[in-house]
Amino acid sequence: MANFFQNKISIAYDIYGCPQLCKHCWLGHFKKHPNMDVNETIANFLKIKEEQTKHKYFNIQVEYFSPDFREPHYGDDYKLLSEKTNIINGCNIEIEKKFELLSIWRLTRDPEYVKWVREKGIKRCQIKIFGLKETNNFFYGRNNAHKDIIDGTSILLDNGIIPRWQIYYNKKGINELEDILDLTNKLNIWDRVSELGEKFNIHGLTYDSDGRGFKYHNFRIDENDIEKIPMLLIEKSREHFGNNFRLSTERELLKEINENNAQSVMPKEHWLWFFVTSDWNVYPNIMGVAPWWLLGNTKHDSWETILSNYAYDKNIGLKIMNNMTVSELANRYGNKTGNKIYSNKSELITYLVGKHCRELYYKNHTATPEAEKP
Ligand code: SF4
Repeated sequence: MANFFQNKISIAYDIYGCPQLCKHCWLGHFKKHPNMDVNETIANFLKIKEEQTKHKYFNIQVEYFSPDFREPHYGDDYKLLSEKTNIINGCNIEIEKKFELLSIWRLTRDPEYVKWVREKGIKRCQIKIFGLKETNNFFYGRNNAHKDIIDGTSILLDNGIIPRWQIYYNKKGINELEDILDLTNKLNIWDRVSELGEKFNIHGLTYDSDGRGFKYHNFRIDENDIEKIPMLLIEKSREHFGNNFRLSTERELLKEINENNAQSVMPKEHWLWFFVTSDWNVYPNIMGVAPWWLLGNTKHDSWETILSNYAYDKNIGLKIMNNMTVSELANRYGNKTGNKIYSNKSELITYLVGKHCRELYYKNHTATPEAEKP
């Protein structure tokens, strides 16, 4: 049976979608994402919250509302939507929960945006980098992504907001890491961040292993690529993640997973959100948005049914996560000679869960779901 972590659930809606189609996106791609109606979405959340307060199903509390779980502030009404969100939540969740994710797309197209971000009290912003121009455009899935990274970084710095560069190691960009460091010097980011009173945070890691990250597993680096990572980036990554941070091969991680490890695949702690897509389908934020994680539909199913589907493992993903042990999964799908690189055990386990989900799903389905289409 699934655990409602801390007996709370927050709900995020995909009101405006995302301008990117990132190759590493753990959520997967939903190409058709018509905008959701803001008022209808809020009404949907409030109805669920009221129902939960009245019936106290599973003794949980519906906590926060979020208008997005992909690109934040993508809709032109972002200011108003943010105000409405704060009223519903009774707090400014982006600040209090320290979300430091902004829309680089909007940052480089809407001069009002950065001023609003600053007034809101957001002090830092994470930007993901895959390599140089061609690699960034390829991995973001749109032209001009690289230009937006460069321009966006400068706009942030000019306005006193500190950019944090997160490098996702990948086969295409692995030879460009020195050039990325050169670029940080050319843009004078180190000094400019230091003038703002902090040390520039640039760090690297491997990318997510579900959703598109699963589909584009072929771009995952292997052990032969490790030596291409500049020492400065390794040091800065340890500074960010802690001294124990290290990249490991599948082979090494499988060795670490004790053959008798009886631990269930589901993590013990997890900030549980339900994601509602534009067709009102609901998915837990455990892994990507795919049919094997579907919990129901907020328009067609009662809230009680959706919660019961989560509690009683009524989809393939939850059945695996709550009823298999880590070692069972590793023995079944792990490649004991595998040399692909992962940032941690859970990234590998996620990949193996993804394999099992797909295997079980395709036993009974022949059509490729939207989440898996090119
Ligand atoms: S990783 Fe983020 S920005 Fe990229 S497609 Fe997914 S949701 Fe959009």
